[in-house]
Formats: sequence, structure tokens, C-alpha cells
Amino acid sequence: MIGGATPLRVLVIEDDPAIRRFLRTSLTAQGYLVTDAEDGTAGLGQLRRSAVDILVLDLGLPDINGLDIIERVRGQGSAIPIVVLSSRSDEAGKVKALDLGADDYITKPFGIDELLARLRAALRHRLQQEGEQPLFRCGELTMDLVRRIVTVADREVKLTPREYDLLRLFVAHAGKVLTHKFILRELWGGEGDVQYLRVYIRALRHKIEPDPERPHYILTEQGVGYRMRSPD
Ligand code: CA
Repeated sequence: MIGGATPLRVLVIEDDPAIRRFLRTSLTAQGYLVTDAEDGTAGLGQLRRSAVDILVLDLGLPDINGLDIIERVRGQGSAIPIVVLSSRSDEAGKVKALDLGADDYITKPFGIDELLARLRAALRHRLQQEGEQPLFRCGELTMDLVRRIVTVADREVKLTPREYDLLRLFVAHAGKVLTHKFILRELWGGEGDVQYLRVYIRALRHKIEPDPERPHYILTEQGVGYRMRSPD
């Protein structure tokens, strides 16, 4: 767990009592300090009153829409990591949540290991935002951001400047899902469409993936975007 000896404080906003209980029990067992709220109003109150390191937020709440909560939290300038709990039927909701500034999502029903991985990735990402790691290593893939060299299994891979920028964006957010919209905005100032992006992804995968049809590094998040595998 990240954070050393000080327990990380997680706030769970979720109206389903069974999921709340499950999260409280399993996150506490992992050493997190858990508080929870059964609706948006109570959750926002908790956020105001107490220091929280990470927020687990259900999108379907009885009083305030989870999306509105993200908007309010980010509108107040808070950079707290937010991991959204979404239902299988709410494809559009999770994309909107990410575009509003949520860090990640997990679809119900989920296992605790998956959620813990999401929480760790979101927290690691916040910690890393200060200083970019000069060397990224994941399996056989390395990216040296100082020398601008990418290697796969110790062999240098020649990338076009665009492909390099794309990979660098993924590496900077490794472990975290990036929406199509986010990538297009970061790399092309919002121009181009998803189809355009797919062409670049395909080219990049052909250069770095052992099997581009079954990507190991740049994973597709269906209907949402892409996720770079976390570094070793
Ligand atoms: Ca709900």
C-alpha cells in the first residue's frame, strides 16, 4: 500500500448498503481508514469536514448525481483522486465522469483486488504528477524520457514524433484509463476523431507490442479509451 505508516483515508459515497459494507470491511482490512456516506449530500459534507486522501464514488445516488459531485469537487479546485463505481448499463456515465475529472472507474460487480489496483494507480498518479519519472519500464518495454529512446527487449524502436508523444502521454498516466477525448485534446488540441486516433494506436502497437492483435502494454477500454499497463 502507498503512503507508508500513515493510513490513507478513503471516503466511500454509495447508497447500496451491501456494497458499502463490503467496501468498509475489505478496505479496512487492507489498512485504509474508511468513512462512508449513503448519499451525495452526506458525502459532500464529509469531504468538507474531514481530510480525505481518495474518494470512491457511486454514480447512481438517490439525491445528487455522481457526475454533479465530481463537477463540484473539481470546481472547488480539489485534486483528490476519484474512482467511480459505475453500473454495466451506464457506459456514457463513466466516460462523462472521466471527462469531468474522475481518475478511473470500476464496473459493478467488481472484485476487491481490482478496486485496490485502481486505487493504487490513482494515488500513484497523483504522487507522480510533481516530477515525471525519467525512465519507464514495464516488462520488455522501456522508455527513456531524457534520452528519448524507446526499447523493446533491448532493441531500439524508431517512433515518429507523434507516436513518441502518444507513448509519452500513456507513460505519464500509466495504470490509468485515458478517454479518447482526453488523448485527442492533449495531442491534437481536440482535433481529429476516434478513428484518427485508432490509426496512430495501431501504428504504435505494431512497433512496441509483441502481438499487436493482443496488446500487452496499451490496452483498449471498450467504448472509453485506452489504458497503459502500470510500470514494474
Ligand atoms: Ca447506487
